[in-house]
Amino acid sequence: MNTRRTFIKFLSFFGALIIPWTILPQKWSRSLSLLVGKPPIKLDIARADGADGSNKIAAEILAKKGFEDIQVLCQVDMQGRRAGTIGETRAYVYLEEQLRALQLEPFGDNNYLQTFSIPEMAERVINGRALFRPKQVDVSSILATNLLAGIKGANQNEAIIISAHYDHLGIYNGELHRGANDNASGVGCILEVMRRLVQENLVGLIPKINIVAVFWGAEEMGFLGSKYFVKNPTIPLSNIRAIINFDTIATGIKEEFIFWVPKDNSLIEIVKQVAKQNGARIEKDYGNGHKSDESSFLDTSIPALTVLSKAWLRKNHTPEDDITIINEEKLKLACNILYDTVKELAY
Ligand SMILES: [Zn+2]
Repeated sequence: MNTRRTFIKFLSFFGALIIPWTILPQKWSRSLSLLVGKPPIKLDIARADGADGSNKIAAEILAKKGFEDIQVLCQVDMQGRRAGTIGETRAYVYLEEQLRALQLEPFGDNNYLQTFSIPEMAERVINGRALFRPKQVDVSSILATNLLAGIKGANQNEAIIISAHYDHLGIYNGELHRGANDNASGVGCILEVMRRLVQENLVGLIPKINIVAVFWGAEEMGFLGSKYFVKNPTIPLSNIRAIINFDTIATGIKEEFIFWVPKDNSLIEIVKQVAKQNGARIEKDYGNGHKSDESSFLDTSIPALTVLSKAWLRKNHTPEDDITIINEEKLKLACNILYDTVKELAY
């Protein structure tokens, strides 16, 4: 009798432990595993298949706007997307879902991803802006990630890269740094343009060369993702015709943009021309010591250029860089400039 009772007790205890996990929606269990800091093994991929089982891409996936991506990347659970944290993982899981839903070709070394290691960082504030400095330069023990995905062209031996860094500062001094303009804005712009190009690709418009979207990790820590890529390229550097990088592009007066270049190159005139055709003004800026991922390509022969809003420094690296400072009209204009530049270079 006693043994039976113990056995029933054991069964109900075991059931109480196991059953909730089997009936919990997949989404909950994923967020729970993210909460305890474990990167997800199985991804919740947005279904790209049509109802008939074909691999059509749903119209709503193609119609999604960059502003929606900015909203997602600035949510509290992204924790400011600091490289090497769970916030970064959540951000790249979201980005990976977007790339997969568009059925893009992988250009990373692990499907869409390229993982690298970064040192532990200390924060400091200079002129009201939070910045990172490595604690120990030689010790890189934390993992960070780049993402690379593209559309194949007729000639697959050449490529252009359109890129934006997706990391930001995370939580610092107890305050969440959402990085809406820096640089969810650039990421949103790249995704919106890729959706437009995929839509055209589906009706038979094939680019001459590959177009690869890259989201750099750990830019805020000293362009570590793009520097790693230059040393460990997943696309031969000699095949890359141009790098168009977008960073902090959606604040301030709609028409006003600037660009940074590591050295003068053939992209300058193209971007100036395209901006003009779109009713925008863009001028070279010397950065005053500031740089972005274009700087990692200085020692290569690849022409690289970063487009920014002229007012990029406004609220930059402060908790006030949130969705309220995004100029949606400017974001649209930036998307058009990027789209026309890609058309000029790859079609
Ligand atoms: Zn920044």
